[in-house]
Amino acid sequence: MDRNTINIEKDISIDEFQAQVDDVLIRHRSILDIITKLDEYTARINRAVIKSATYCGCIEIHATKQDYNRDSLEEIKNNMDDHIKGKLCPSCKEILHEEMGAYIFYLSALANTLDIKVSDAILNEYKNIKTLGIFSLK
Ligand SMILES: [Zn+2]
Repeated sequence: MDRNTINIEKDISIDEFQAQVDDVLIRHRSILDIITKLDEYTARINRAVIKSATYCGCIEIHATKQDYNRDSLEEIKNNMDDHIKGKLCPSCKEILHEEMGAYIFYLSALANTLDIKVSDAILNEYKNIKTLGIFSLK
């Protein structure tokens, strides 16, 4: 990859991505196909995470009860556990990149079908979490 290729990849906008999705989507143009493809890729993402633990072993999942018995939301936030031990290996990370990319493709396709700009949805969400901060309670 040359330097220009890298810059183009880093500088792609969400709107450009969404337009490109519209240009290439042929087979799964029906909203029924798009919605079921979104479901499929949600399952594939979850499966890839689980296989990282059960097949590869680069991560382990140790779920326990979360501790909400704290004085402030800040303290609760700082003591929440993601229940993951370890880090994804490059191979598992690559698989998740592919699955998440496909998910984003079909999410963009759904947005195109319903005349919604993904960038507007992201911006609205960003404004909400920026305004509410820790009180967004997500
Ligand atoms: Zn792995």
